[in-house]
Amino acid sequence: MEDIRVRRVVQTEDLSNVEFETSEDVEVLPTFDSMGLREELLRGIYAYGFEKPSAIQQRSIKPIVKGRDVIAQAQSGTGKTATFSIAILQSLDTTVRESQVLCLSPTRELATQIQKVILALGDFMNVQCHACIGGTNLGEDIRKLDYGQHVVSGTPGRVFDMIRRRVLRTRSIKMLVLDEADEMLNKGFKEQIYDVYRYLPPATQVVLISATLPHEILEMTSKFMTDPIRILVKRDELTLEGIKQFFVAVEREEWKFDTLCDLYDTLTITQAVIFCNTKRKVDWLTEKMREANFTVSSMHGDMPQKERDAIMKEFRSGQSRVLITTDVWARGIDVQQVSLVINYDLPNNRELYIHRIGRSGRFGRKGVAINFVKSDDIRILRDIEQYYSTQIDEMPMNVADLI
Ligand code: ADP
Repeated sequence: MEDIRVRRVVQTEDLSNVEFETSEDVEVLPTFDSMGLREELLRGIYAYGFEKPSAIQQRSIKPIVKGRDVIAQAQSGTGKTATFSIAILQSLDTTVRESQVLCLSPTRELATQIQKVILALGDFMNVQCHACIGGTNLGEDIRKLDYGQHVVSGTPGRVFDMIRRRVLRTRSIKMLVLDEADEMLNKGFKEQIYDVYRYLPPATQVVLISATLPHEILEMTSKFMTDPIRILVKRDELTLEGIKQFFVAVEREEWKFDTLCDLYDTLTITQAVIFCNTKRKVDWLTEKMREANFTVSSMHGDMPQKERDAIMKEFRSGQSRVLITTDVWARGIDVQQVSLVINYDLPNNRELYIHRIGRSGRFGRKGVAINFVKSDDIRILRDIEQYYSTQIDEMPMNVADLI
């Protein structure tokens, strides 16, 4: 297993002065020391390399620990995962080995990443945290849950299966975290989330986290949350200043491929992620890049989980530098070395745009996003630009200097 505690120290933008709209007065705690966290957890936080909490951490950790229902929104890569991971760890009673927190995410890779962050931050706490995800061995899952897990980080399908089999016992669960909450409450997942929710004790605290929380999602939260505190960034602050956004006018679909080949040297300066809208297109583009003798990796949801794991490992370790993928990768995945995102296809909605470009520029690092736009895509790009009050210019010749 890769050791995610080894961290590179890089100069990053200060993430502590972002403007928030909050539903009530929320205390801003400028240091981890002032949060009243347990000693072993503080040790874990500092050992992991964190020195100062980011804006969302300064505001959200405390209310979650206090047991309030919380809706927290902040830009990609500003420390939301660490926010709820720290709050989860503080809320546990590790003297009883029963599941106390359930955290649900939309993809297996994200659920696994969260598990690893919780284990790393909780390194001095003797915490059991299990990634309960589809595509893995059922027997192994059952054995691990039987042993007893304080925290379960999973995807809805497998988690529900484990609950129904009474392998994952819910009687001691006191907190439900929905990461990428807007996606989890969207059509594709909503029923599954309610299925799980119905098995949880009535007093379960609910925490919603995402970079994007559209109005219609916020509206439905009253159904399963009690007097939640809302900590939300303003929409026009959603795109990070550190991420420069550009477009290349390719006019026609056929010209995208040559444009990508021309950019290959730029892609490999650090690491890059290329998004296509379908799995078929990912396969096609991968094949075509390889035929042209370029080295690329690719990943999508139709691949066996073992292969997905191997590709993630390769990419996280830096062995592969260019990843062609679908929106399975759009949300939450944190690989600090990614500094370039290419939208080979423009995403199908505004939220996905923010999530995709947010794979670069992690925690205030520099990032570049390049959108390939056909003539009839320009309208969509302008809409994104306006919606987020951001600027997307034509790609300059010296784009490599910005990475
Ligand atoms: P988000 O969930 O908002 O996309 P993450 O929690 O994944 O963001 O954090 C992005 C990156 O920043 C991760 O690599 C994480 O380890 C790092 N990070 C988070 N909080 C801090 C902090 N307070 N100090 C330094 N690095 C941090």
